[in-house]
Amino acid sequence: MNPVYAKARFITSVPDPALLPTDTGREVAFVGRSNAGKSSTINALCSQKNLARTSKTPGRTQQINVFELGEGRHLVDLPGYGYAKAPEAERRRWGRFIEAYLTTRRSLQGLVIVMDIRHPLRDHDCQMLDWCQARGLDAHILLNKADKLKRGAQSNTLLAVRRAIKEAGWPATAQTFSAHKREGIDQAHARLDGWLGYDVEEAAASN
Ligand code: GDP
Repeated sequence: MNPVYAKARFITSVPDPALLPTDTGREVAFVGRSNAGKSSTINALCSQKNLARTSKTPGRTQQINVFELGEGRHLVDLPGYGYAKAPEAERRRWGRFIEAYLTTRRSLQGLVIVMDIRHPLRDHDCQMLDWCQARGLDAHILLNKADKLKRGAQSNTLLAVRRAIKEAGWPATAQTFSAHKREGIDQAHARLDGWLGYDVEEAAASN
């Protein structure tokens, strides 16, 4: 396992993408419906308990949190969506700024979309995938909380999601994941490594 993830550290929290650190280097962003387990997923991938704060009240964290891995490499935790009780104005503001971030951020290499495996590809998830397609940005879907389903049901959902990806022509891959059981970590790291340019460096170093 690439040791950089365990060394991830929080660097800033901003209310607007315009206030993010300079748009250089490489970054990977995380989005997902509130309560899908986005914070737990970031914590599991970085082997840290409280790096991303898991929300007691879904939808409360409307900030963008930035974590630094190594030199010029960042993970960006975008606010969760789909929280039914969020005021309409707040939801519209969220849509505008996520779209602005996804379409203009040049250092953004890939988008991780965290979904609850029991409710995959909801409206906003598909909206994210459409934006990725429009911009030509790669996405990776983590079907989280896989521990809630039996193996057979997990693979059926994964197959259905992969079929939907193919039919829509989304530039995305998908896997099952469990933040609680720490399942699927290596596969997710491999995708992040590729986006963050770590595999390229390792290959160059071994030549
Ligand atoms: P966020 O709102 O998307 O950041 O979600 P959180 O990380 O705060 O998690 C929301 C709820 O889902 C919490 O009660 C977590 O304990 C639970 N959760 C997160 N990941 C998993 C998982 O892999 N399996 C199960 N069973 N529950 C999970």
